[in-house]
Amino acid sequence: MGMRSRSTTVSGIGAGHARRSRSTPRRAVRRPGGERAALSDIGLRREVNQDAFFAGARLLAVADGVGGGPAGEVAARLAVDAVASGAESAAGLSDLHALAAEASAAVHDGSRSDSALAGMTTTLTAGLFVPEGLAVVHAGDSRLYRVREGVLEQLTSDHAVVAQLLREGLISADRATTHPLRNMLTRALGRDRDTDFDAFVVPVAPGDVFLFCTDGLTNMVDESAIAATVDGADSLDDAALRLVRCANAAGGRDNITVVLAAAPPRSASGLHDGSAVAAA
Ligand code: MG
Repeated sequence: MGMRSRSTTVSGIGAGHARRSRSTPRRAVRRPGGERAALSDIGLRREVNQDAFFAGARLLAVADGVGGGPAGEVAARLAVDAVASGAESAAGLSDLHALAAEASAAVHDGSRSDSALAGMTTTLTAGLFVPEGLAVVHAGDSRLYRVREGVLEQLTSDHAVVAQLLREGLISADRATTHPLRNMLTRALGRDRDTDFDAFVVPVAPGDVFLFCTDGLTNMVDESAIAATVDGADSLDDAALRLVRCANAAGGRDNITVVLAAAPPRSASGLHDGSAVAAA
């Protein structure tokens, strides 16, 4: 299935990257407000699952750890646990950003505390439903998408060498998938104590579904297939299972983690309409 994309401008997204893919056939499925699903799978080639996730009522996160031995797994777990520690108390983007900073420090300090963990790093992409929409923090190449009425839109910008070359027009999309530096991140937690996170708020409308995922999904399954899968599933649990199956059917070369979250009901989110103003 070919990917059909078009460039567009997304209001309120500081990351400056937006790509949309429409599923075929278009089918707008209304999800019960607040529905959640999460699944992490080792895939078909890896010995260890170095991904981690958290899926709470308001806070969602995925992390993809890198490092030898147990290190990648530890890095991802430390990052997700640090962010999840604020799942009940976090109230806005600044709280989420502070939790991400704690996650960064935890991974960095952990890597210094034990020679077996030296050099471990991880991605982190986390979201928090707030009255204004979904607050997001992001570093690395795990992604956040929004599915709205059959349209899949990438809300995060990959912090990866290849993504940067692609954005600058220096390589083609075809070349990106085989480039020798395709796994090289430009930002990751653990390298320094402080990590430069993208932090922003995106609008949320009733019926929106947010997909947090690691590259074990996005390197194996094209965006039109992701959109069609989420849109055509009977439930978010069903969608999560189908996404993992698609990635494994395509080769399952990496760990695959998906966290799906439907927009909370209006009464819970405090939204007055579907066009909440973003504030970064
Ligand atoms: Mg990965």
